[in-house]
Amino acid sequence: MKKIKTLMEMTNPEAEKILEETQMAIIPLGSVEQHGSHLPLGTDYYAAESFAKRIVSKTGGLLVDFAPFGVTPLHMGFKGTVTLRSETMISLMTDIVSSLCRHGAKKIVFINWHERNLPAIEIATENSQNEFEEIKILIVHAHFIAKEKYGKIVGLTHGGELEILPVLADRPELVHLELATDPSPIQKGQKSDKFRRDPSIYYIPKDVRSMYKTGWYGKINDTSDERIKEVMNGTSSEAARRIKEFFKI
Ligand SMILES: [Zn+2]
Repeated sequence: MKKIKTLMEMTNPEAEKILEETQMAIIPLGSVEQHGSHLPLGTDYYAAESFAKRIVSKTGGLLVDFAPFGVTPLHMGFKGTVTLRSETMISLMTDIVSSLCRHGAKKIVFINWHERNLPAIEIATENSQNEFEEIKILIVHAHFIAKEKYGKIVGLTHGGELEILPVLADRPELVHLELATDPSPIQKGQKSDKFRRDPSIYYIPKDVRSMYKTGWYGKINDTSDERIKEVMNGTSSEAARRIKEFFKI
């Protein structure tokens, strides 16, 4: 993959050229929260950014840095976690989209890798679409694409294999697999994740320790280079395919 620059790394003429050619902006969203002793606090943002870079290399568009923070009160029991209020996240998102629209962006894609960002993302999307009638926004939950395609054995678990691979892909020095020695019981974790993801009846966990006491759980089966490549390429290709389909590009 050729090096993809983010907006902050570009000059103004570079950014202008991409916006003129594509009218598209791609924005990664994650969070800063504990991920056990083996993964960095920035895991969710790093994952969102790693997938976003690969997606941009297939779809084109301007890769816009977002604040690394997200909405994550449930992880505040662990020091180092930093949460935004949903209101703050909504304001940040709508201000960023509004700036991009004023510069000609008409297609906006959010690449998210943090479940509790969802309510803020949906409200910000509706607000922005109401403010700028000519724009279309697509929401991509990369973690759910990875889960659908590659989670049959390992599932989508906090701190488990599907969260390890995207960090290994671009920032292997931040992963400490030798410290992944204290996963919480897998069945309890699976049961509570299943319940909170149920679309009909669900609850919003207040403290993640009620679901997984040590802050993470999950299987770590395969972290080989082949597996990293497979999951990164497969997930970003599927996202890119659906983005192109939606925007007819
Ligand atoms: Zn995570």
